[in-house]
Amino acid sequence: MKPLRIFAIRTCIACRKSENSANLLRVVLVDGVVTPDLKRNLPGRGARLHTACGFDAIQRKAFKWAFKLTESPDVSAFKKFLTELKEMDAKDMKLK
Ligand SMILES: [Zn+2]
Repeated sequence: MKPLRIFAIRTCIACRKSENSANLLRVVLVDGVVTPDLKRNLPGRGARLHTACGFDAIQRKAFKWAFKLTESPDVSAFKKFLTELKEMDAKDMKLK
């Protein structure tokens, strides 16, 4: 019997909504730095969230909770990633 292809349901760490994991961005902690796992191949404990919830997650210190840390991790790289993503979206909108 072939296994059915079922998408995993994950919870966004910012808005706490359940979502098909394909629609969520996976982030992992690499040396204390929150890193977007764009190719979904980074090892380690991951957290998932909507890209739209990214800034919210930073503000709410959701990563500290998601990674069970005592202090908030370094989110500067993730912030940069979100900012670039936003700029890309803005460019896309202009094209349309
Ligand atoms: Zn969300």
